[in-house]
Amino acid sequence: MAHRPPSAASSNGAGLRLASAPFDTPDGADIALRTSDDTIFVFRKCFLIAASPFFSNLLADGVPDKVFRRLPLCPVLEDSETMHFVLRLCSPNHITMGDLVVALSSHPVLSTLDKYIMDAAHQRVVNMFQEGAATLIKEAPLRAFALARELGQDTIARQAARQLLCVPMDKWKISDQAILNIRDYHGLVQYFLRCGQAAFDAANIAHTPLGGCATCMQSFSSSPNSSGLKLGSSAVHIRKGDSLVHLEGVAKLQSVLDARHIFRLCPGTRQLPEVVFENLCDVSKLVCGSQWESRAVRMSLKRVFAVMYKEIDEAIDRVPLGLSSV
Ligand SMILES: [Zn+2]
Repeated sequence: MAHRPPSAASSNGAGLRLASAPFDTPDGADIALRTSDDTIFVFRKCFLIAASPFFSNLLADGVPDKVFRRLPLCPVLEDSETMHFVLRLCSPNHITMGDLVVALSSHPVLSTLDKYIMDAAHQRVVNMFQEGAATLIKEAPLRAFALARELGQDTIARQAARQLLCVPMDKWKISDQAILNIRDYHGLVQYFLRCGQAAFDAANIAHTPLGGCATCMQSFSSSPNSSGLKLGSSAVHIRKGDSLVHLEGVAKLQSVLDARHIFRLCPGTRQLPEVVFENLCDVSKLVCGSQWESRAVRMSLKRVFAVMYKEIDEAIDRVPLGLSSV
């Protein structure tokens, strides 16, 4: 059931409000909880006692002095939004991953569960998070990282940090950054920057006069008009020097060289813009093309890029992500 904020229409005129469903119906309820923002939750004592040794002890010591509609009334220090989610966790209510993410991101749910020693509810949170983590990592890796750290799920945090390499830092959501502790945030920024450098170095896109072409296997020195362009540990033919007087060719080659900076901004990039690939095909096939069909050059270049991306992945694998104990 979706969480609705307490309705002002439920006010009893004494400044109290009744919580939203399912904590607004007295059916089966035998206790009332009053939150710090004067909202009344009617609830079943058996759920509370089973969920929390804290409440079990508290209620065993006697009946609270105050009552609400003949139900014993127990004050709690939490606000109604936090308590609404906590009580849902402690009773057989359906909770979606979306509900969980919103609640954990916005309210002190975990500290409340700890305070009341609600271990089973805490475990329910962990189980739900583990089940929904793959989708959350894909859709919101920074939030997934932050919540995984909150829950002590560092394996998931590392997966999320890796996925976050596909998101340039200027696209990181402020609202997601806000729920990270400052040490984790700085650790994540350091990791991102180091991965950016590692990806840039492994991509290794630069001129080279030495070596041979991964497409046609000829040495770069075998033709006076050819040179090489490194892509990872491989290299491919490009035209050089006086053959590059054609401005369009120069611009195309420059677009390929400029593309290397993408890896610093977004180390998770595993496909350069299509226009970059097309430009490289154009400047490469003119040299290799006398022996190779254009289609074969394209296929060969795709293989070279695949190897380069694998080398980038391996370089990033070697970048440590330091996670301090929370
Ligand atoms: Zn070649």
